[in-house]
Amino acid sequence: MADAPVTRIDAIRYARHERVAEANFSEPVDDHDLPMPLDYYVWAIHREGHPPLIVDTGFGEHAAMARGRTLIRPVEEGLRAAGIDHLLVEDVILTHLHYDHAGSLNVFPNAKFHVQDAEMAFATGRHVCDHGVRAPFDGEPVAQLVRKLYADHVVFHDGDEDFAPGIRLVKAEGHTAGLMVVVCDTARGPVVLCSDAAHLYANITRAIPFPIFVDEEAYARAQDKVMALAGGSLDHVIPGHDPLVLSCFPATNDIARVDLPPHRPISEAISGA
Ligand SMILES: [Zn+2]
Ligand SMILES: [Zn+2]
Repeated sequence: MADAPVTRIDAIRYARHERVAEANFSEPVDDHDLPMPLDYYVWAIHREGHPPLIVDTGFGEHAAMARGRTLIRPVEEGLRAAGIDHLLVEDVILTHLHYDHAGSLNVFPNAKFHVQDAEMAFATGRHVCDHGVRAPFDGEPVAQLVRKLYADHVVFHDGDEDFAPGIRLVKAEGHTAGLMVVVCDTARGPVVLCSDAAHLYANITRAIPFPIFVDEEAYARAQDKVMALAGGSLDHVIPGHDPLVLSCFPATNDIARVDLPPHRPISEAISGA
């Protein structure tokens, strides 16, 4: 596909959380006490003739402090390192409304925010009364999104939709009520930005969910869907928080080019072969 609609995809790391494996799985794992950190990314999709399309906003200093995460650099600085002016961004796809994916709306004052109907309804409705369900959301960014709605800066999506040529939104709920993944047609075939449908490749390969979900069966179906969209290959799946993205794909300055093939198959990197 020499004339692929998507010419480049950046996975831009901006934060990290040191933790052990048991924090990343909803069931006991043998390596429970071994280090298994999470990285935090935003993604930029590049096309000819359009400003970069941003997927998720990340979070800022306040949330990092409040939640004990290490902010490596502000999101706008990460974007600048990828040659992107955050003020010129016209569209931001919010995969879901957890604090680490929709916590910095103000970085994009000129953008429209794209969200699933089910996600907005969930994050502003009765389920938030449950403290466990509420924990990964921050109230202020959700309130900001409501204000953006009243200022004509929110675009709703209901289920699967073509966003633009070569860019498709696919609802893959389970982690949250309205999580969506973004499927991009690149020169190497489909690349599925799957956000928290899988925090880590290991959530897929071990078939054990990350311990945050609203519907466990739907979470499993979402991963099946992601793998099908990726043609059955982990190399075509980009999880929401896996450090392997930076170590396996061509990367400089904490920015991985995930439109390019990984240096070696992800399945090998996971097994340590
Ligand atoms: Zn999440
Ligand atoms: Zn997340």
